[in-house]
Amino acid sequence: MPELPEVETLRRDLLPVLVGRRFTSVVATGIRSVRRSTPSEFSRALTAAAVTGIDRHGKYLLVRLDGPHQSDGERTLAVHLRMSGQVLLAPPNAGPEDAPLHTHVRLGLDDGTGLWFVDPRTFGELWVTHGAGRPAELAHLGPDAWRHGLPPWPTNRRVGVKAVLLDQGFVAGIGNIYGDEICHRAGVRVDRSAAQMTRPAIARLRTATAEVLGEAVEARGSTLGDGQYVDLTGRSGGFGLSHRVHARAGQPCLKCGRPIVGLIVAGRSAYQCRTCQR
Ligand SMILES: [Zn+2]
Repeated sequence: MPELPEVETLRRDLLPVLVGRRFTSVVATGIRSVRRSTPSEFSRALTAAAVTGIDRHGKYLLVRLDGPHQSDGERTLAVHLRMSGQVLLAPPNAGPEDAPLHTHVRLGLDDGTGLWFVDPRTFGELWVTHGAGRPAELAHLGPDAWRHGLPPWPTNRRVGVKAVLLDQGFVAGIGNIYGDEICHRAGVRVDRSAAQMTRPAIARLRTATAEVLGEAVEARGSTLGDGQYVDLTGRSGGFGLSHRVHARAGQPCLKCGRPIVGLIVAGRSAYQCRTCQR
């Protein structure tokens, strides 16, 4: 599942492709992918709009739009990839028959190229919303984990540290992969109670969050064995090779050599080293 570094990679790759361009055709064949409106409403809101910039908050991509009419005001195309969503670059003058299986939305651009939204599991979505700030639909999210860093630590919470990191209302952008990697980098057990975090441990977690997410962005994100995350041109991310714990059960810890242990935390798989993490 794409997390902050994968969406940031997509944002950076889309900047030269989209900014200054205009959407000339919008075809939504997958109703679930545009479920906050009807396909024709979605198409009307996007057709002929020009892209003025691209932002990101947590795992959400925010494509800023203008026009085509003065009265339209500023709008935002929000994109969330969820489990298996991909945004792929369509070659110049590609037809619908050229789109991969599970393409639910096709966006044509005024230079003849376009974008395909591909999503086998159909949990991902796109919608157009008014304004150029953070969309109202994203009001529940905490600060961005990379741009803003971790907010003050909730020492009153009795859930595990990883569960806090994964809580998008606390901090936005961290998922299962980077939750494991951040905890290992900080030397903190994924299931240590948030209430038992000491000041030095919180400081290490803060530093680890910035380091791990920064390195993952530089490496263009992580592609796991399922191959579900790829970039705009279909290439895998390079950070999977740098994972120290995630999906490495039984393999030696890169710090101490003891085997990495897999466990279930809050109903999801987690990985850690019992020696290096306390
Ligand atoms: Zn270790």
